[in-house]
Amino acid sequence: MLIGGSWVEARSGERFESVNPYLGTPWATVPRAGAADVDAAVQAARAAFVDWSRTTPVARGKLLRRLADLIAERASSIARVETTDNGKLIREMEGQLRGLADYYHYFAGAADKVGGETLPADRDNFFVYTVREPLGVVAAITPWNSPVLLASWKIAPALAAGCCVVVKPAEQAPCSTLEFAALFEEAGFPPGVMNVVTGFGGEAGAPLVEHPGVDKVAFTGGTATGRAVMRGAASHLARVTLELGGKSPNVVFADADLDAAANGVVAGIFAATGQTCMAGSRLLVEDAVHDELVERLAARAASIRMGDPLDPETEMGPVAFEGHLQGVLAAIASASDEGARLVAGGTRGDGPGYFVRPTIFGDVTNDMRLAREEIFGPVLAALRFSSEEEAVALANDTAFGLAAGVWTRDVQRAHRMARALRAGTVWVNAYRAVGPAAPFGGYKDSGIGRENGIQAITGYTETKTVWIELTGATRDPFQLG
Ligand code: NDP
Repeated sequence: MLIGGSWVEARSGERFESVNPYLGTPWATVPRAGAADVDAAVQAARAAFVDWSRTTPVARGKLLRRLADLIAERASSIARVETTDNGKLIREMEGQLRGLADYYHYFAGAADKVGGETLPADRDNFFVYTVREPLGVVAAITPWNSPVLLASWKIAPALAAGCCVVVKPAEQAPCSTLEFAALFEEAGFPPGVMNVVTGFGGEAGAPLVEHPGVDKVAFTGGTATGRAVMRGAASHLARVTLELGGKSPNVVFADADLDAAANGVVAGIFAATGQTCMAGSRLLVEDAVHDELVERLAARAASIRMGDPLDPETEMGPVAFEGHLQGVLAAIASASDEGARLVAGGTRGDGPGYFVRPTIFGDVTNDMRLAREEIFGPVLAALRFSSEEEAVALANDTAFGLAAGVWTRDVQRAHRMARALRAGTVWVNAYRAVGPAAPFGGYKDSGIGRENGIQAITGYTETKTVWIELTGATRDPFQLG
C-alpha cells in the first residue's frame, strides 16, 4: 500500500487474493488493511496537507499535467492490470486510460481558475471578500467496475484544490489503483499527498469514513453502501459526494434511426458487461417499433463475441467476481418467475470464468423487480409505451435518477424529453458518453453531488468570508454588525 510515500504491508502482515474473473483463479495478493493502517494513511495525508495546501494552484496544475503525461504513456500497462483484475475489455480500457489523462489536464487547468469573489457589502465601512481554501483530507472509496477512472474523478479535482487523498479501492479489483499510484511519485508529488490502502469495506472502508481526520468522503458504489457511508461520515460531519446506482431508461421513439438506437441500446447494457452505474437497463420502446427493435436486439445479443477480455476482438467479458455472477443469475431466475418473457440469453456462458450470456427480457412491466432493482449485469428489461407522456411517466417511475437515453429524430421532442426526465445526465441519440467538463451524478437514490465539470473542484474547497473594517470607528457593541 502507498502510505506517506512508502510502499508498506498491512500492520497485521495479512494479505488477500484478487481473482482473475476470466480464469476464475487468483492472480495477485494485496495487503489487507485494518483500522491502524487506515489511521496511518490519514495521518500521512494530514501531515502532507500542511505544505500541500499552501502550494500555489499554478504549481499544483504543473504537477497534475506531468501526471497526465505519465498516464498517457503508461495507459496500456495499467489497462492490462485492470482488465486482468476485473475482466473489463482491454478494447475499452486502453481508450479509457488514455482518455483519463484528459481529466488530469482539465483539472490542472481549473486549479488556478477557481477563486473567491469581492462582494458588494451592504455597509460602506466594510470591504468583504471570499477565498476558497482546500477542504483537507479526502477519502476516495471506489468500486470494482472502473477503479482508476472513478478514483480519478475524485483525485484530480481534490489535488487541484489542494487536498490530500486516501484511496480505498474495492476488494475485488485493487491492483490497478496500486499500479496507478506509483505514477504520483514519478510525477513529483510530495509524499503523503496521494495514499492507497487496500482491504475490505468493513475493515478498511468503514474506519476510513469514520476517521475524524477525514474532511470529505467521495464514494462511488451501491446505494445501500452509500447510505452506510453517509451515516459514517455524519458522525464527524465529513462532506460527502455519493455516486450510486441506477436503473436508467433508454427511450426509443418510433421516429428514431433504429440502427443507431439498436447500437445505443447494446452500448448501454452489454458494453462493460452491464457493470456500469449508468447502464441503460430499462429499454422503453414505442409500440410501433417495439417488436422490430426487440427482435433486432435479440439477434445482436446472440452474436456478441464473449471471451478473453485481453483479446481486442472480444465484445463482452465475464462479470467481475463469482458472488456477482451468482447475483446476476439469481436476478435472471427471479425475472422469469415474475412473468417476464426471455428473448435472449438467460444462462451462464461457457468457460471457467464468470460469464453470463447477454440477456433480454420482453413483456416487462415497471412494477417487476426486474424493472426496479439494479442488476449491474448484462440484463435488459424491455417495456413498451404508446405516447410521449407514458414514456416520461415510465422513465421517471423509479427510485433512481442517474442517466437516461432518448432516441428520436424530432428536435422538439428531444428537448421536451431532456426537460422532463429526472436524471443527472440525458443523452439524445447517444448513450454512455462522459467527459471531464460534464458534471456527472444522480437525482434521487442515485446519489448526492456531481463529479467532473468546473464545480467539482469547488466541492473540495471551503469558502471563507473575510470582512475588513475600513474606518476604525467605534460602534455600539450591542448591535449586530
Ligand atoms: P459497494 O458499494 O459495497 O462497494 C463500493 C466500495 O465501498 C468498495 O470499495 C467497498 O469495499 C466499499 N465499502 C463497502 N462497505 C463499506 C462501508 N461500510 N464503509 C465504507 N466503504 C465500504 O459495491 P459492491 O461491490 O458490493 O456492489 C454492490 C452493488 O452496488 C452492485 O451490484 C451494483 O448494484 C452497485 N454498484 C454500483 C457501482 C457504481 O458505479 N455506481 C459500482 C459498483 C457497484 P469492498 O469492496 O471491500 O466491499
